[in-house]
Amino acid sequence: MVEKPDVGELTPPDRTLMGPGPSEVHPRVLRAMSTPLVGHLDPSFIEIMNEVQDLLRYTFRTDNQWTIPVSGTGSAAMEAAIGNVVEPGDTMLVPTNGYFGGRMEEMATRAGGEVVHVDAPWGEPLDPADVAAAMDEHQPDVFGFVHAETSTGVLQPQVPELTDVAHDHDAIVIADTVTSLGGVELKVDEWGIDVAYSGPQKCLSCPPGAAPLTLNDRAMDKVLSREEDARSWYLDLSLLEGYWGDDRSYHHTAPITNVYALREALRLVAEEGIEDRWERHRENAGALKAGVEAMGLEMNAPDDYWLPSLNAVRVPDGVTDTDVTSYLLDQYDLEIATGLGDLEGDIFRIGCMGYSSRAETVSYLMAALGDALSEQGADVDVEAGLAATARKLGEQ
Ligand SMILES: *Cc1c(COP(=O)(O)O)cnc(C)c1O
Repeated sequence: MVEKPDVGELTPPDRTLMGPGPSEVHPRVLRAMSTPLVGHLDPSFIEIMNEVQDLLRYTFRTDNQWTIPVSGTGSAAMEAAIGNVVEPGDTMLVPTNGYFGGRMEEMATRAGGEVVHVDAPWGEPLDPADVAAAMDEHQPDVFGFVHAETSTGVLQPQVPELTDVAHDHDAIVIADTVTSLGGVELKVDEWGIDVAYSGPQKCLSCPPGAAPLTLNDRAMDKVLSREEDARSWYLDLSLLEGYWGDDRSYHHTAPITNVYALREALRLVAEEGIEDRWERHRENAGALKAGVEAMGLEMNAPDDYWLPSLNAVRVPDGVTDTDVTSYLLDQYDLEIATGLGDLEGDIFRIGCMGYSSRAETVSYLMAALGDALSEQGADVDVEAGLAATARKLGEQ
């Protein structure tokens, strides 16, 4: 006999989300999600699809016709990019300086690709000279890099230099922009990025479920002239072309509610203006950074490649990272994350993404973090930290 489970009403805690994603969802996006469904082939939904595509182009700064939300989370868009562009026998050059370069490697391998590496330590960006050397040595067909490495809080600078080197070697460039799209400066066309994928629940402040992807004609030509079908039927872009392209024929049922949500989240981006949105992220995270530094803590990334949407802060002496994150969750309903991989135990990862990037959330985080650290015996100057944050926020 299978017992009837006794499950009560849904009452999750009311958290302030300042981890590596999901970020807080804007109330307008939550409201859009309670809009009644239409069919995924309804003429009114076709119109909504067009609007979402236009808004995605605006946010990615691209004219690419091939700009769509992929059903699923950021990893689905990632696998759609890698699984379609990388053909069996292709060589893909991937970075070793963070968690998500490793995921690129796994996906490229499953797609039948040979993987080669360009190295940099966790916590540092790629050096274009190293990329050039790896290009000369391996002549890869595809080059992947992570624009905003969420595992280390590092922003990859000099993107146009990387894409120039890759194009000199006829490689297609795939950029992971999951933690940069809508949060930090990103110009897909101007910077020569051939393929970019992202996620909805980071700087777009949308629930996970429909993930941005854009490909230029050069990349799409490679995809459409593959000799062997992509290994995933669900993510096969040559089939998805039937739905998101001119035909509008059934492939799989679009996640209607997530498309509504993404539309509203992107409308908020356009209302704010993309440059102003980048600036807001820099200012609010700048106030956070000034505060933690005045408190006596250290950012893991130097200023040149500091990532405003994900702030990696060194764990001070005398405290254990997980004790601090548990305390923040228990006492303040506040989520931040600890380090991963090579930086496990060494850093806190504090997201400042989308709707979570506000003066209120930054002030709250600073007060809560100051309390947690002093409570647990770290030598921090909480007053100085709060004052520095308040000063920066007051300047805005
Ligand atoms: C979150 C993230 C992903 C994966 O996205 P999911 O939505 O978790 O599938 C990929 N790359 C980077 C840089 C990320 O931060």
